[in-house]
Amino acid sequence: MTNTRSSMFDATDSVIVIGVGRSGLATAEVLRARGASVVAFDDKPPEKLNKERDILAKLGVPLLASGELAKAIGAATGAVLSPGVPLNHPAVLAISRAGVPVYSEIEVAYRLCDAPIIAVTGSKGKSTTTALIGHLLRADGRKVHVGGNIGDPLIKKTVAAGHDDWVVAEVSSFQLESIREFRPRISVLLNLSPDHLDRYPSMEEYGEAKYRIFANQGDGDVFVGNMDDETGARLRAGVRTIPCKRLWFSLSGQKGADAFYRDGVLHWRGDGVRPDGELVAANELHLRGAHNVENALAASLAALAAGASVKAVRDGLRSFLPLPHRLQPIANADGISWIDDSKATNPDAVVKALEAFTEPIVLIAGGKPKNTEFGTMCSAISKRVKAAVLIGESAQLIGRALRGPLVAYAKSMDEAVEAAFGLAKSGDVVLLSPGCASFDMFDSAEQRGEKFAAAVKARVEGNGVHAG
Ligand code: ADP
Repeated sequence: MTNTRSSMFDATDSVIVIGVGRSGLATAEVLRARGASVVAFDDKPPEKLNKERDILAKLGVPLLASGELAKAIGAATGAVLSPGVPLNHPAVLAISRAGVPVYSEIEVAYRLCDAPIIAVTGSKGKSTTTALIGHLLRADGRKVHVGGNIGDPLIKKTVAAGHDDWVVAEVSSFQLESIREFRPRISVLLNLSPDHLDRYPSMEEYGEAKYRIFANQGDGDVFVGNMDDETGARLRAGVRTIPCKRLWFSLSGQKGADAFYRDGVLHWRGDGVRPDGELVAANELHLRGAHNVENALAASLAALAAGASVKAVRDGLRSFLPLPHRLQPIANADGISWIDDSKATNPDAVVKALEAFTEPIVLIAGGKPKNTEFGTMCSAISKRVKAAVLIGESAQLIGRALRGPLVAYAKSMDEAVEAAFGLAKSGDVVLLSPGCASFDMFDSAEQRGEKFAAAVKARVEGNGVHAG
Protein backbone atom coordinates (compact mmCIF):
# COMPACT_ATOMS: atom_id res chain seq x y z
CA MET A 1 0.00 0.00 0.00
CA THR A 2 1.47 3.34 -0.97
CA ASN A 3 1.49 5.85 1.79
CA THR A 4 -0.07 9.09 0.67
CA ARG A 5 0.78 11.08 3.74
CA SER A 6 4.55 10.79 3.85
CA SER A 7 4.99 14.47 3.05
CA MET A 8 4.06 15.04 6.69
CA PHE A 9 6.75 16.45 8.98
CA ASP A 10 9.19 17.62 6.37
CA ALA A 11 11.35 20.72 6.01
CA THR A 12 8.28 22.96 5.99
CA ASP A 13 7.34 21.89 9.51
CA SER A 14 8.23 23.17 12.92
CA VAL A 15 7.50 20.57 15.56
CA ILE A 16 7.42 20.49 19.37
CA VAL A 17 8.29 17.08 20.82
CA ILE A 18 6.71 16.76 24.26
CA GLY A 19 8.48 14.36 26.61
CA VAL A 20 12.07 13.35 25.98
CA GLY A 21 12.03 9.69 26.95
CA ARG A 22 13.00 7.03 24.42
CA SER A 23 10.01 7.72 22.22
CA GLY A 24 10.51 11.50 22.24
CA LEU A 25 14.22 11.21 21.44
CA ALA A 26 13.50 8.79 18.59
CA THR A 27 10.82 11.14 17.23
CA ALA A 28 13.20 14.10 17.35
CA GLU A 29 15.84 12.09 15.50
CA VAL A 30 13.47 10.92 12.75
CA LEU A 31 11.87 14.33 12.21
CA ARG A 32 15.24 16.05 12.07
CA ALA A 33 16.39 13.52 9.47
CA ARG A 34 13.31 14.55 7.43
CA GLY A 35 14.45 18.17 7.61
CA ALA A 36 11.85 19.47 10.07
CA SER A 37 12.73 22.10 12.68
CA VAL A 38 12.29 20.50 16.07
CA VAL A 39 12.24 21.77 19.65
CA ALA A 40 11.67 19.57 22.70
CA PHE A 41 9.92 20.10 26.00
CA ASP A 42 9.89 18.06 29.21
CA ASP A 43 8.70 19.16 32.63
CA LYS A 44 11.26 17.15 34.60
CA PRO A 45 13.68 19.33 36.61
CA PRO A 46 16.38 20.60 34.18
CA GLU A 47 19.17 18.98 36.21
CA LYS A 48 17.64 15.55 35.52
CA LEU A 49 17.70 16.07 31.77
CA ASN A 50 21.43 16.51 31.11
CA LYS A 51 21.83 13.30 29.11
CA GLU A 52 18.77 14.03 26.99
CA ARG A 53 19.85 17.66 26.43
CA ASP A 54 23.20 16.41 25.06
CA ILE A 55 21.55 13.89 22.71
CA LEU A 56 19.12 16.54 21.47
CA ALA A 57 21.89 19.12 21.02
CA LYS A 58 23.69 16.74 18.64
CA LEU A 59 20.50 16.54 16.60
CA GLY A 60 20.16 20.33 16.54
CA VAL A 61 17.12 20.24 18.82
CA PRO A 62 16.94 22.78 21.70
CA LEU A 63 15.39 21.56 24.95
CA LEU A 64 13.05 24.37 26.00
CA ALA A 65 12.84 25.85 29.48
CA SER A 66 9.23 26.14 30.65
CA GLY A 67 9.21 29.91 30.01
CA GLU A 68 10.13 29.30 26.36
CA LEU A 69 7.19 27.07 25.52
CA ALA A 70 4.70 29.84 24.68
CA LYS A 71 6.99 31.32 22.00
CA ALA A 72 7.61 27.87 20.49
CA ILE A 73 3.85 27.24 20.32
CA GLY A 74 3.47 30.41 18.25
CA ALA A 75 5.88 29.04 15.61
CA ALA A 76 4.78 25.37 15.66
CA THR A 77 2.93 23.53 12.89
CA GLY A 78 2.52 20.38 14.98
CA ALA A 79 3.42 18.66 18.25
CA VAL A 80 4.25 15.04 18.98
CA LEU A 81 3.35 13.57 22.34
CA SER A 82 5.32 10.83 24.11
CA PRO A 83 3.19 8.00 25.50
CA GLY A 84 4.04 8.86 29.11
CA VAL A 85 2.52 12.35 28.87
CA PRO A 86 -1.23 12.52 29.55
CA LEU A 87 -3.50 14.45 27.18
CA ASN A 88 -4.54 16.76 30.01
CA HIS A 89 -0.97 17.84 30.75
CA PRO A 90 -0.88 21.69 30.91
CA ALA A 91 1.66 21.89 28.06
CA VAL A 92 -0.53 19.71 25.82
CA LEU A 93 -3.61 21.77 26.69
CA ALA A 94 -1.76 25.00 25.90
CA ILE A 95 -0.62 23.63 22.53
CA SER A 96 -4.11 22.38 21.63
CA ARG A 97 -5.70 25.67 22.70
CA ALA A 98 -3.40 27.48 20.28
CA GLY A 99 -4.83 25.32 17.48
CA VAL A 100 -1.59 23.38 16.93
CA PRO A 101 -2.38 19.72 16.11
CA VAL A 102 -1.01 17.23 18.64
CA TYR A 103 -0.09 13.75 17.39
CA SER A 104 1.00 10.70 19.32
CA GLU A 105 4.27 9.07 18.37
CA ILE A 106 2.50 6.03 16.90
CA GLU A 107 0.35 8.30 14.74
CA VAL A 108 3.44 9.89 13.24
CA ALA A 109 5.10 6.45 12.96
CA TYR A 110 2.04 5.23 11.05
CA ARG A 111 1.97 8.19 8.69
CA LEU A 112 5.63 7.70 7.83
CA CYS A 113 5.26 3.96 7.24
CA ASP A 114 5.21 2.24 3.84
CA ALA A 115 4.73 -1.28 5.25
CA PRO A 116 1.52 -2.83 6.56
CA ILE A 117 1.27 -2.74 10.36
CA ILE A 118 0.05 -5.43 12.72
CA ALA A 119 -0.81 -3.68 15.99
CA VAL A 120 -1.27 -5.55 19.25
CA THR A 121 -2.93 -4.22 22.39
CA GLY A 122 -4.59 -5.59 25.52
CA SER A 123 -4.06 -5.41 29.26
CA LYS A 124 -1.68 -8.33 29.33
CA GLY A 125 0.21 -10.46 26.82
CA LYS A 126 1.08 -7.64 24.40
CA SER A 127 4.85 -8.10 24.35
CA THR A 128 4.69 -11.87 24.16
CA THR A 129 2.12 -11.82 21.35
CA THR A 130 3.90 -9.05 19.45
CA ALA A 131 7.23 -10.91 19.60
CA LEU A 132 5.51 -14.17 18.69
CA ILE A 133 3.81 -12.67 15.61
CA GLY A 134 7.21 -11.34 14.52
CA HIS A 135 8.70 -14.79 15.05
CA LEU A 136 5.93 -16.53 13.08
CA LEU A 137 6.29 -14.14 10.14
CA ARG A 138 10.06 -14.56 10.16
CA ALA A 139 9.53 -18.33 10.12
CA ASP A 140 7.56 -17.64 6.94
CA GLY A 141 10.56 -15.82 5.45
CA ARG A 142 9.19 -12.28 5.82
CA LYS A 143 11.26 -9.26 6.72
CA VAL A 144 9.72 -8.04 9.96
CA HIS A 145 10.28 -4.96 12.14
CA VAL A 146 9.04 -5.40 15.72
CA GLY A 147 8.72 -2.29 17.88
CA GLY A 148 6.54 -0.01 19.95
CA ASN A 149 6.50 -0.68 23.66
CA ILE A 150 8.78 -3.61 22.97
CA GLY A 151 12.30 -2.84 21.74
CA ASP A 152 12.75 0.38 19.79
CA PRO A 153 10.06 3.08 19.64
CA LEU A 154 7.73 2.37 16.73
CA ILE A 155 8.78 5.41 14.71
CA LYS A 156 12.32 4.01 14.37
CA LYS A 157 10.94 0.78 12.97
CA THR A 158 8.38 2.22 10.59
CA VAL A 159 10.76 4.61 8.86
CA ALA A 160 13.11 1.67 8.22
CA ALA A 161 10.42 -0.62 6.79
CA GLY A 162 10.01 -1.14 3.04
CA HIS A 163 6.80 -1.82 1.09
CA ASP A 164 7.15 -5.58 1.24
CA ASP A 165 8.11 -5.78 4.91
CA TRP A 166 5.77 -6.09 7.88
CA VAL A 167 5.80 -3.97 11.03
CA VAL A 168 4.52 -5.59 14.22
CA ALA A 169 3.74 -2.98 16.87
CA GLU A 170 2.95 -3.32 20.55
CA VAL A 171 0.69 -0.38 21.42
CA SER A 172 -0.57 0.67 24.83
CA SER A 173 -3.84 2.34 25.71
CA PHE A 174 -1.85 5.52 26.41
CA GLN A 175 -0.56 5.53 22.85
CA LEU A 176 -3.99 4.81 21.39
CA GLU A 177 -5.62 7.70 23.25
CA SER A 178 -4.49 10.33 20.80
CA ILE A 179 -4.44 8.51 17.46
CA ARG A 180 -6.26 10.14 14.55
CA GLU A 181 -5.74 8.07 11.39
CA PHE A 182 -3.62 5.20 12.76
CA ARG A 183 -4.95 2.25 10.82
CA PRO A 184 -3.29 -1.12 11.26
CA ARG A 185 -3.78 -3.68 8.47
CA ILE A 186 -4.30 -6.21 11.27
CA SER A 187 -5.27 -5.25 14.81
CA VAL A 188 -5.15 -7.63 17.77
CA LEU A 189 -7.03 -6.92 21.03
CA LEU A 190 -6.01 -9.62 23.49
CA ASN A 191 -8.00 -8.92 26.66
CA LEU A 192 -9.13 -6.22 29.04
CA SER A 193 -8.48 -6.58 32.75
CA PRO A 194 -8.25 -3.89 35.44
CA ASP A 195 -4.98 -2.02 34.98
CA HIS A 196 -3.79 1.59 34.94
CA LEU A 197 -6.78 2.70 36.98
CA ASP A 198 -4.43 5.28 38.44
CA ARG A 199 -4.60 7.01 35.03
CA TYR A 200 -8.14 6.20 33.84
CA PRO A 201 -11.22 7.23 35.84
CA SER A 202 -12.95 3.90 35.10
CA MET A 203 -12.68 0.59 33.26
CA GLU A 204 -15.03 2.04 30.61
CA GLU A 205 -12.60 4.80 29.76
CA TYR A 206 -9.65 2.40 29.81
CA GLY A 207 -11.60 0.09 27.47
CA GLU A 208 -12.49 2.97 25.15
CA ALA A 209 -8.81 3.74 24.69
CA LYS A 210 -8.07 0.11 23.78
CA TYR A 211 -11.00 -0.06 21.35
CA ARG A 212 -9.43 2.73 19.37
CA ILE A 213 -7.06 0.16 17.90
CA PHE A 214 -9.72 -0.79 15.36
CA ALA A 215 -11.50 2.57 15.07
CA ASN A 216 -9.98 3.45 11.68
CA GLN A 217 -9.91 -0.03 10.18
CA GLY A 218 -11.87 -0.70 7.03
CA ASP A 219 -12.07 -2.74 3.89
CA GLY A 220 -9.14 -5.12 3.50
CA ASP A 221 -8.20 -4.91 7.19
CA VAL A 222 -8.50 -7.63 9.81
CA PHE A 223 -9.42 -7.46 13.49
CA VAL A 224 -8.39 -10.31 15.82
CA GLY A 225 -10.30 -10.47 19.11
CA ASN A 226 -10.86 -12.65 22.16
CA MET A 227 -14.23 -14.40 22.07
CA ASP A 228 -14.00 -15.35 25.76
CA ASP A 229 -13.26 -11.90 27.16
CA GLU A 230 -15.88 -10.71 29.63
CA THR A 231 -16.07 -7.37 27.92
CA GLY A 232 -16.45 -9.28 24.64
CA ALA A 233 -20.13 -8.59 24.12
CA ARG A 234 -19.61 -4.86 24.08
CA LEU A 235 -16.47 -5.25 22.05
CA ARG A 236 -18.23 -7.43 19.50
CA ALA A 237 -20.98 -4.83 19.18
CA GLY A 238 -18.39 -2.08 18.64
CA VAL A 239 -16.27 -3.96 16.17
CA ARG A 240 -19.32 -5.04 14.16
CA THR A 241 -19.76 -1.45 13.04
CA ILE A 242 -16.28 -1.46 11.49
CA PRO A 243 -16.18 -2.71 7.89
CA CYS A 244 -13.20 -5.04 8.35
CA LYS A 245 -12.82 -8.80 8.57
CA ARG A 246 -13.18 -10.14 12.12
CA LEU A 247 -11.37 -13.19 13.46
CA TRP A 248 -11.94 -14.58 16.95
CA PHE A 249 -9.85 -16.81 19.18
CA SER A 250 -11.24 -18.82 22.07
CA LEU A 251 -9.37 -20.63 24.80
CA SER A 252 -12.64 -22.17 25.94
CA GLY A 253 -13.22 -23.65 22.47
CA GLN A 254 -16.36 -21.60 21.73
CA LYS A 255 -18.32 -22.41 18.62
CA GLY A 256 -17.64 -20.04 15.78
CA ALA A 257 -14.09 -19.20 16.87
CA ASP A 258 -11.51 -19.01 14.09
CA ALA A 259 -8.73 -20.36 16.32
CA PHE A 260 -9.47 -22.31 19.45
CA TYR A 261 -8.10 -24.70 22.07
CA ARG A 262 -9.59 -28.11 22.60
CA ASP A 263 -8.28 -31.32 24.24
CA GLY A 264 -4.76 -29.98 24.66
CA VAL A 265 -4.45 -28.84 21.03
CA LEU A 266 -4.54 -25.44 19.29
CA HIS A 267 -6.79 -25.55 16.23
CA TRP A 268 -7.41 -23.29 13.25
CA ARG A 269 -10.74 -23.19 11.46
CA GLY A 270 -9.24 -22.45 8.05
CA ASP A 271 -9.94 -19.39 5.95
CA GLY A 272 -12.07 -20.72 3.14
CA VAL A 273 -8.99 -21.29 0.98
CA ARG A 274 -6.86 -23.30 3.37
CA PRO A 275 -8.64 -26.07 5.27
CA ASP A 276 -9.11 -26.30 9.04
CA GLY A 277 -6.73 -28.35 11.12
CA GLU A 278 -4.52 -28.68 14.17
CA LEU A 279 -1.76 -26.14 14.73
CA VAL A 280 0.28 -27.62 17.62
CA ALA A 281 -0.34 -29.32 20.96
CA ALA A 282 -0.06 -26.95 23.93
CA ASN A 283 2.74 -29.03 25.39
CA GLU A 284 4.82 -28.36 22.27
CA LEU A 285 4.97 -24.66 23.22
CA HIS A 286 7.87 -23.44 25.36
CA LEU A 287 5.38 -20.93 26.80
CA ARG A 288 3.61 -21.98 30.00
CA GLY A 289 0.04 -21.45 31.07
CA ALA A 290 -3.42 -21.09 29.55
CA HIS A 291 -2.90 -17.36 29.06
CA ASN A 292 -0.01 -18.13 26.75
CA VAL A 293 -2.22 -20.51 24.76
CA GLU A 294 -4.46 -17.47 24.22
CA ASN A 295 -1.48 -15.41 23.12
CA ALA A 296 -0.44 -18.20 20.74
CA LEU A 297 -3.96 -18.46 19.26
CA ALA A 298 -4.08 -14.69 18.72
CA ALA A 299 -0.59 -14.59 17.19
CA SER A 300 -1.40 -17.52 14.88
CA LEU A 301 -4.55 -15.80 13.59
CA ALA A 302 -2.63 -12.58 12.94
CA ALA A 303 0.22 -14.37 11.13
CA LEU A 304 -2.18 -16.51 9.08
CA ALA A 305 -4.19 -13.39 8.17
CA ALA A 306 -0.93 -11.80 7.01
CA GLY A 307 -0.56 -14.75 4.65
CA ALA A 308 1.96 -16.88 6.57
CA SER A 309 1.84 -20.58 5.73
CA VAL A 310 0.37 -23.02 8.23
CA LYS A 311 3.71 -24.85 8.28
CA ALA A 312 5.60 -21.65 9.18
CA VAL A 313 3.10 -20.95 11.95
CA ARG A 314 3.49 -24.46 13.35
CA ASP A 315 7.32 -24.29 13.19
CA GLY A 316 7.33 -20.84 14.77
CA LEU A 317 4.99 -21.84 17.59
CA ARG A 318 7.26 -24.75 18.42
CA SER A 319 10.49 -22.73 18.44
CA PHE A 320 9.43 -19.52 20.24
CA LEU A 321 11.00 -19.02 23.70
CA PRO A 322 9.43 -16.93 26.53
CA LEU A 323 10.56 -13.31 26.69
CA PRO A 324 12.62 -12.30 29.74
CA HIS A 325 10.59 -11.64 32.95
CA ARG A 326 7.47 -13.42 31.63
CA LEU A 327 7.30 -16.77 33.42
CA GLN A 328 10.98 -17.12 32.57
CA PRO A 329 12.81 -20.05 34.18
CA ILE A 330 15.85 -18.67 36.03
CA ALA A 331 17.32 -21.62 37.89
CA ASN A 332 16.58 -25.13 38.93
CA ALA A 333 18.50 -26.19 41.98
CA ASP A 334 17.88 -28.77 44.71
CA GLY A 335 14.61 -29.64 42.96
CA ILE A 336 13.31 -26.06 43.29
CA SER A 337 12.37 -24.13 40.12
CA TRP A 338 12.87 -20.37 40.26
CA ILE A 339 10.64 -18.43 37.88
CA ASP A 340 10.84 -14.72 37.01
CA ASP A 341 7.43 -13.23 36.12
CA SER A 342 8.34 -9.68 37.10
CA LYS A 343 6.30 -8.31 34.18
CA ALA A 344 3.15 -9.52 35.94
CA THR A 345 2.37 -5.94 36.94
CA ASN A 346 -1.37 -6.29 37.50
CA PRO A 347 -3.38 -8.68 39.71
CA ASP A 348 -4.84 -10.66 36.81
CA ALA A 349 -1.36 -11.61 35.56
CA VAL A 350 -0.64 -13.13 38.99
CA VAL A 351 -3.80 -15.22 38.79
CA LYS A 352 -2.74 -16.42 35.33
CA ALA A 353 0.78 -17.20 36.52
CA LEU A 354 -0.51 -19.25 39.47
CA GLU A 355 -2.70 -21.25 37.07
CA ALA A 356 0.35 -22.12 34.96
CA PHE A 357 1.82 -24.45 37.62
CA THR A 358 0.73 -27.63 39.34
CA GLU A 359 3.61 -27.70 41.86
CA PRO A 360 3.42 -26.13 45.36
CA ILE A 361 4.26 -22.42 45.04
CA VAL A 362 6.24 -19.98 47.14
CA LEU A 363 5.19 -16.59 45.75
CA ILE A 364 7.08 -13.31 45.92
CA ALA A 365 4.54 -10.52 45.30
CA GLY A 366 3.75 -6.88 46.04
CA GLY A 367 5.00 -3.50 44.91
CA LYS A 368 3.42 -0.21 43.97
CA PRO A 369 -0.36 -0.64 43.61
CA LYS A 370 -2.13 0.93 40.62
CA ASN A 371 -5.54 1.46 42.28
CA THR A 372 -6.53 -2.00 41.14
CA GLU A 373 -8.55 -4.29 43.35
CA PHE A 374 -6.64 -7.18 44.96
CA GLY A 375 -9.61 -9.37 46.01
CA THR A 376 -9.52 -11.94 43.19
CA MET A 377 -5.74 -12.12 43.25
CA CYS A 378 -5.67 -12.62 47.03
CA SER A 379 -8.28 -15.41 46.83
CA ALA A 380 -6.19 -17.13 44.15
CA ILE A 381 -3.03 -16.75 46.24
CA SER A 382 -4.85 -18.06 49.33
CA LYS A 383 -5.98 -21.16 47.42
CA ARG A 384 -2.87 -21.92 45.45
CA VAL A 385 0.19 -20.73 47.37
CA LYS A 386 1.90 -22.40 50.33
CA ALA A 387 3.87 -19.33 51.35
CA ALA A 388 3.95 -15.70 50.24
CA VAL A 389 6.87 -13.33 50.66
CA LEU A 390 5.53 -9.79 50.31
CA ILE A 391 7.44 -6.69 49.30
CA GLY A 392 6.81 -3.02 48.60
CA GLU A 393 4.03 -0.55 49.35
CA SER A 394 1.22 -3.06 48.96
CA ALA A 395 2.78 -5.78 51.16
CA GLN A 396 0.62 -5.21 54.25
CA LEU A 397 -2.56 -4.78 52.22
CA ILE A 398 -2.01 -8.10 50.44
CA GLY A 399 -0.79 -9.84 53.59
CA ARG A 400 -3.94 -8.91 55.54
CA ALA A 401 -6.17 -10.36 52.79
CA LEU A 402 -4.47 -13.76 52.60
CA ARG A 403 -6.10 -16.75 54.30
CA GLY A 404 -4.00 -19.87 54.58
CA PRO A 405 -0.51 -19.36 53.19
CA LEU A 406 2.42 -18.61 55.44
CA VAL A 407 3.18 -14.90 55.08
CA ALA A 408 6.59 -13.26 55.36
CA TYR A 409 7.58 -9.66 54.66
CA ALA A 410 10.84 -8.49 53.08
CA LYS A 411 12.37 -5.05 52.61
CA SER A 412 14.54 -5.85 49.59
CA MET A 413 14.69 -8.41 46.80
CA ASP A 414 17.74 -10.04 48.42
CA GLU A 415 15.76 -10.43 51.62
CA ALA A 416 12.77 -11.81 49.72
CA VAL A 417 14.87 -14.41 47.92
CA GLU A 418 16.53 -15.36 51.20
CA ALA A 419 13.12 -15.84 52.82
CA ALA A 420 11.92 -17.90 49.83
CA PHE A 421 14.97 -20.13 50.16
CA GLY A 422 13.94 -20.85 53.73
CA LEU A 423 10.31 -21.61 52.76
CA ALA A 424 10.76 -23.72 49.60
CA LYS A 425 11.64 -27.37 49.41
CA SER A 426 12.37 -29.85 46.64
CA GLY A 427 9.46 -30.06 44.17
CA ASP A 428 8.35 -26.46 44.77
CA VAL A 429 8.26 -23.50 42.43
CA VAL A 430 9.42 -20.11 43.67
CA LEU A 431 7.58 -17.56 41.57
CA LEU A 432 8.22 -13.82 41.42
CA SER A 433 4.88 -12.51 40.14
CA PRO A 434 4.28 -9.14 41.85
CA GLY A 435 0.85 -8.00 40.59
CA CYS A 436 1.98 -4.41 41.03
CA ALA A 437 4.22 -1.79 39.46
CA SER A 438 7.86 -1.76 40.50
CA PHE A 439 8.57 1.92 41.04
CA ASP A 440 8.40 1.88 44.85
CA MET A 441 11.60 -0.19 45.03
CA PHE A 442 13.05 -0.46 41.51
CA ASP A 443 13.55 1.58 38.33
CA SER A 444 11.44 -0.81 36.27
CA ALA A 445 9.89 -4.27 36.18
CA GLU A 446 12.94 -5.42 34.20
CA GLN A 447 15.29 -4.25 36.95
CA ARG A 448 13.12 -6.00 39.56
CA GLY A 449 13.43 -9.25 37.57
CA GLU A 450 17.16 -8.82 37.14
CA LYS A 451 17.65 -8.27 40.89
CA PHE A 452 15.60 -11.40 41.55
CA ALA A 453 17.67 -13.45 39.08
CA ALA A 454 20.94 -12.10 40.49
CA ALA A 455 19.91 -12.87 44.08
CA VAL A 456 18.77 -16.38 43.12
CA LYS A 457 21.95 -17.12 41.19
CA ALA A 458 24.19 -15.76 43.98
CA ARG A 459 22.38 -17.87 46.55
CA VAL A 460 22.28 -21.01 44.38
CA GLU A 461 25.94 -20.74 43.46
CA GLY A 462 26.77 -19.91 47.10
CA ASN A 463 25.23 -23.25 47.98
CA GLY A 464 27.57 -24.96 45.52
CA VAL A 465 24.66 -25.87 43.23
CA HIS A 466 24.67 -24.77 39.59
CA ALA A 467 21.76 -22.87 38.15
CA GLY A 468 20.21 -24.63 35.20
P1 ADP B 1 2.28 -6.93 28.37
O1 ADP B 1 3.25 -6.51 27.32
O2 ADP B 1 0.86 -6.71 27.96
O3 ADP B 1 2.57 -6.41 29.75
P2 ADP B 1 3.64 -9.48 28.48
O4 ADP B 1 3.62 -10.38 27.32
O5 ADP B 1 4.84 -8.65 28.71
O6 ADP B 1 2.36 -8.54 28.45
O7 ADP B 1 3.35 -10.34 29.78
C1 ADP B 1 3.34 -9.69 31.05
C2 ADP B 1 2.80 -10.60 32.11
O8 ADP B 1 1.40 -10.78 31.91
C3 ADP B 1 3.40 -11.98 32.06
O9 ADP B 1 4.33 -12.07 33.08
C4 ADP B 1 2.24 -12.95 32.29
O10 ADP B 1 2.23 -13.36 33.61
C5 ADP B 1 1.00 -12.14 32.05
N1 ADP B 1 0.29 -12.48 30.80
C6 ADP B 1 0.84 -12.72 29.57
N2 ADP B 1 -0.14 -12.98 28.68
C7 ADP B 1 -1.32 -12.87 29.33
C8 ADP B 1 -2.69 -13.00 28.94
N3 ADP B 1 -3.05 -13.29 27.69
N4 ADP B 1 -3.64 -12.84 29.91
C9 ADP B 1 -3.30 -12.53 31.17
N5 ADP B 1 -2.04 -12.41 31.61
C10 ADP B 1 -1.05 -12.57 30.70
